[in-house]
Amino acid sequence: MPVVWSDRHHLHEPGGEFWVGVRTPGSELPERAERIRDALLEAGARFVDAEAHPDGAVLAVHDPAMVAYLASAWKEWEAAGLTVDPGQDRVVPYVFPHPGLFSGRPPAVPAAVAARAGRFAFDTMTLIGPGTWEAARSAVDAALTAADLVLGGAPAAYACCRPPGHHATRTCFGGSCYLNNAAAAAARLRETGGGPVAVIDVDAHHGNGTQAIFYEDPGVLVGSVHVDPGAGWFPHFLGFAAETGAGPGGGANRNLPLAPGAADEEWLEAVGALVAWARECGAQVLVVALGVDAAAGDPESPLGVTPDGFRAAGSALGALGLPTVVVQEGGYDLSAIGPLVREALTGIEEGMRA
Ligand SMILES: [Zn+2]
Repeated sequence: MPVVWSDRHHLHEPGGEFWVGVRTPGSELPERAERIRDALLEAGARFVDAEAHPDGAVLAVHDPAMVAYLASAWKEWEAAGLTVDPGQDRVVPYVFPHPGLFSGRPPAVPAAVAARAGRFAFDTMTLIGPGTWEAARSAVDAALTAADLVLGGAPAAYACCRPPGHHATRTCFGGSCYLNNAAAAAARLRETGGGPVAVIDVDAHHGNGTQAIFYEDPGVLVGSVHVDPGAGWFPHFLGFAAETGAGPGGGANRNLPLAPGAADEEWLEAVGALVAWARECGAQVLVVALGVDAAAGDPESPLGVTPDGFRAAGSALGALGLPTVVVQEGGYDLSAIGPLVREALTGIEEGMRA
């Protein structure tokens, strides 16, 4: 399948992350995408450049105020002199407008640039640097270009996106995600009509952003298999089985949390259940949020999926026989990320042919 790529991903160098107040190196690095590209080039994949899309496609899934903030946050930070005093080279939040502060009234927009950093961020791990906005925007463009290829008749297309997107909601960002690439692709694909779009998220972590964006929307089914947040894993507050959608979207959301240590057998059973669910609900188009951090050996998750497991999952997803957009999410083992993505994509193509 065609691979959509943008060189602009490397403009985003997170420069680490703050976890429990300590600056750690972080793992969402430019090298992730390079390793995937190398593995797919070696496998003979055809690469397509991401095409710029108008902001409307971003605003279909994000609040205009958050988008405007992300676009200007770094320039604002630099202009306010925060890179010199106190000497912070990334936008780092320190105060957050928790709903419990406001008695139901809308929070003020803080006058202090340093305080504005917490307005849309939900954690301290998702830092903004000089090229973050350009890279995040190019990742959405890659996902939308893949959607366009599929709308144009390609059976499947893969967006090699970075930074990832599935933790970003309509109004807040975090979890190394800024804009929700998979959600933007799903919103684009729903224009085809005839039945719902299914988003199946196989990243090791719950796709809380995609869930939140479509929670009341019967037109986009969102299913996620991930390590159980109840066992102490990010995103901690969300990703439980009881979250099934609301209002007209009631029943259109499905979470399958797995215990730490779960490997191919349990994980593939859950992927199979999401595939069956999408089929029963009459899905017409598929978006696969392809994180490969459920792999054994990934530093960010305790799941134990093998390369064969990723191939088998791909095959199950491909067997749905739907036009399919694959969007890259997590995966942090640099030595494995390329081959794991290659196995998953090969599996999807095999499943489609079977
Ligand atoms: Zn993840």
